[in-house]
Amino acid sequence: MLELNRKIRAAQLLTLHDALFLCPHCRGTLHLSDDHSMVCPANHRFDLARDGYLPLLGRPYTGSERYDRELFIARRRVHQFGFFQPLQEAIEQELRPLTSACQLYRLLDAGCGEGSLLADLISRLVTRTEAPILGVGLDLAKDAILTAAKQDAASTLWCVGDLAAVPCASQSFDVILNILSPSNYPSFHRLLAPGGQVIKVMPGPHYLQELRQLLYGDHTVPMKGTASMARFRDAFPVCRQRRITGRMVLEGPLIHDMLRMTPLAWRAPAAALEAIHRLGQLEVTLDWVLVVGQSN
Ligand SMILES: [Zn+2]
Repeated sequence: MLELNRKIRAAQLLTLHDALFLCPHCRGTLHLSDDHSMVCPANHRFDLARDGYLPLLGRPYTGSERYDRELFIARRRVHQFGFFQPLQEAIEQELRPLTSACQLYRLLDAGCGEGSLLADLISRLVTRTEAPILGVGLDLAKDAILTAAKQDAASTLWCVGDLAAVPCASQSFDVILNILSPSNYPSFHRLLAPGGQVIKVMPGPHYLQELRQLLYGDHTVPMKGTASMARFRDAFPVCRQRRITGRMVLEGPLIHDMLRMTPLAWRAPAAALEAIHRLGQLEVTLDWVLVVGQSN
């Protein structure tokens, strides 16, 4: 019954935002048919999933098999604990000046994972502004979107799709969020409306340094931050950045969830992982770099 409601709600949102989604095969505009399928002019057909998300990948999944349900559920528990709270507040501050000026405020979370951050942001924006808002959460991993779609997020559509060929019309978003996730700047430029913004978050140099020390005996394991920032500045020369730092104590099962969700732990020696699993408490450094780029 819940699934049916989610599907109907997604279909209602889609009728309001017709022509936003493109066919992943031929890039024709998709329209919602009476039987809750999205159909393009060449008659490629994509059934709205039971939980109301759009399966628009159009090719077999080629990402890591590590990105499974278990990982995204662990990620959600870490989110619910409040690990990303300082980051979420910083993102919200960046959004605030925009919300009052828009007719329809459209956000894309590119690489949304299990979608908690986007869902929380949208629900807070909905209560704060009278402007209509639409969130679209896109991820390559079906298990991410499946997990995302099962939360009852207002005004949000979830879509399995490819960042290199996002199945959305050009200039259709005011803001693109790209949080601790790979980027595709040509896609972002195509998708942003004039005057739009991309908000990217990447790990800072001290992010989870205690965990890196325990896993590899070296807290300086590189985080690719400098190269990522240079690529961002090349793509969006008009930009500004800020740093969000803090400390947080993780306890018991949350340490397990953190190890499960972070790619940092994937290549760690088994003995180091076991030693961390035995810890009752782990204090970690939060360090994120938030960068906001302006479209032309
Ligand atoms: Zn098509």
